[in-house]
Amino acid sequence: MNYILYAVPFFFVLIALELLADRWRGVSSYRLADAINSLSAGVLSTTAGLLTRTIGLLIYTLAWQQLAVFELSAEPLWVWLLAFVFYDFCYYWNHRLGHERNVLWAAHSVHHQSEDYNLSTALRQTSTGFIFGWIFYLPMAVAGVPPLVFLTVAALNLLYQFWVHTRHIPKLGWFEWLFVSPSNHRVHHAQNAVYMDRNYGGVFILWDRLFGTFQEELDEQPVIFGVTTPLASWNPLWANAQFYVALWRDAQRAESWWDRLRIWFMPTGWRPADVAAKYPQAKPDLSQFVKFDVPLSRGQQVYAATQFSLYVLAGTGLLALAAELSTAALLLGLAWMAGGLYVIGTWLENRPTARRLELLRLALNLPVVWLALQLGLLPELPLLWPLLLGYSLLSLVALYYTPGERSTVAVR
Ligand SMILES: [Zn+2]
Ligand SMILES: [Zn+2]
Repeated sequence: MNYILYAVPFFFVLIALELLADRWRGVSSYRLADAINSLSAGVLSTTAGLLTRTIGLLIYTLAWQQLAVFELSAEPLWVWLLAFVFYDFCYYWNHRLGHERNVLWAAHSVHHQSEDYNLSTALRQTSTGFIFGWIFYLPMAVAGVPPLVFLTVAALNLLYQFWVHTRHIPKLGWFEWLFVSPSNHRVHHAQNAVYMDRNYGGVFILWDRLFGTFQEELDEQPVIFGVTTPLASWNPLWANAQFYVALWRDAQRAESWWDRLRIWFMPTGWRPADVAAKYPQAKPDLSQFVKFDVPLSRGQQVYAATQFSLYVLAGTGLLALAAELSTAALLLGLAWMAGGLYVIGTWLENRPTARRLELLRLALNLPVVWLALQLGLLPELPLLWPLLLGYSLLSLVALYYTPGERSTVAVR
């Protein structure tokens, strides 16, 4: 059962409520391109997850079958409660190392790239966390927590974290002591020096208090959201690759083989001495901080929002159909989603190639669907062809009448 699928409507209802709260209080915590970029990362992560999460689950199940010390049944309530707390403990270390080691930060940094903070930021998730993430939960398998219980508490943990990504909820008194809250998680998303690498808990903030990583939100230090090496892009594929590429480049440039190897596992930000001397990186001055933005015309924004909404629908459809689809179909679906979200990203960046790429995307939809049907990768859905043709024609007309924004210069 895919718990996230059933949560999708709630995510969007709550995002709509947050937008209303914005309007009511006369603030703006959303920017269209940023929200689309965050949600694109989420759609990509969920779609890729249909393939990648099997790996972690297989390893977990194998470890549980071979190494479990206790024989825990999924019946008693205490097993569930224990698993819920145990999971959050493992999550704390997964998350903490995700910030403290180069290669793990390369995966996790996706969640932190947004320079806004709202419920769409919660859905901004990495697509590569599966590579090392499973290691941190092996203790649960060894303790004997059954895979079904593990999967369920993992989903509950992730779902809990959704609501804390908002600027609308102030500090919550005693709650702040025990639980992860909007206030203490805002601190976690900050790039201010005083807030860096703090508040790693998923549900319980208690771990941070125990292991010395807690920091309270301070009135005199308004949070500046984002990462110190800004993404400066609306491309969700680049969002996932940015830090891996930076590490790869530095590894290539290093003289010593030892440095080339260890750079991946060193503390985040560590660079080989010869590389740092030859290619210095300036530390950004936060007092001069300006959010990444690209001006777009109203028409361009409406066009991007409409196309993106259709991708969210398609992504949800893929999630719903996943159990019936073959691995090949899922791979094709993932490639199709990734390509489309990439094109929407270039559109949001107002790149000179955006219109041509958009035409190519619309043109490719038809042969891709045809191929998927021929190969039996896609079930015969009613009205598929008329809907697809209608959509393509309407998009072409909209594209023709959408005025462009003249400036293609990104503001930073
Ligand atoms: Zn984090
Ligand atoms: Zn977060």
